[in-house]
Amino acid sequence: MRYQSLAAMDADLVDCRRCPRLVAWREQVARDKRAAFRDETYWGRPVPGFGPTDAGLLIVGLAPAAHGANRTGRMFTGDRSGDVLYAALHAVGLANQPTAVSTDDGLALRGTRITSPVHCAPPANKPSPTERDTCRSWLDEELRLLAPTLRAVVVLGGFGWKALLPVLGDAGWQVPRPAPRFGHGAHVELAGRRPLHLFGCYHVSQQNTFTGRLTPPMIEAVLADAARAAGLPGRFETP
Ligand code: SF4
Repeated sequence: MRYQSLAAMDADLVDCRRCPRLVAWREQVARDKRAAFRDETYWGRPVPGFGPTDAGLLIVGLAPAAHGANRTGRMFTGDRSGDVLYAALHAVGLANQPTAVSTDDGLALRGTRITSPVHCAPPANKPSPTERDTCRSWLDEELRLLAPTLRAVVVLGGFGWKALLPVLGDAGWQVPRPAPRFGHGAHVELAGRRPLHLFGCYHVSQQNTFTGRLTPPMIEAVLADAARAAGLPGRFETP
């Protein structure tokens, strides 16, 4: 389905029930809750993209976390992964504050939108290939609507990279063959009506950040490069 705006798309997205396993999981988590959040009402639905609808920079993750975005209803909000990501966005001038705890915390992004190829929390953070493919139409549509302003994309992790390349190809950018490989610091310029700069960054998962595989300076460096490539106004210092 084609939408006139991302707001219209997101209004339908939050009611999506196409993936039976993910619908069951997101709702079960929302009922059972984690003890620390037992007094909260979990979102328990698909999580839409977050950020301006005319963004020049898009960040693509994997899927909502069970007790993070699936609880709060906003991408990367309310968990350790989000703590790392939003602190880095703030450090390079793309977010107005370094923390993200709830949808009413005042957080705003500058020229940057965050989305994921799968919009519902999956068990063990692992969506199946079928679930990725089922959710793809939302990403197709989000890219189509962002295309007029989009200049750069940062992909967090190999899952998002693999999911996004065919979407970019169908949206009109020329994806080289063989397909560019994911890696931290990977940077590919895709030709199209307007060139698109594609950057790879390790995912901000606890597995990566707790072990030091991904450090704040590493994330900030990629975000700053991407912000410059997107032509976002401001001062983006590479640490
Ligand atoms: S993962 Fe995507 S396609 Fe599947 S139910 Fe959630 S929003 Fe719908």
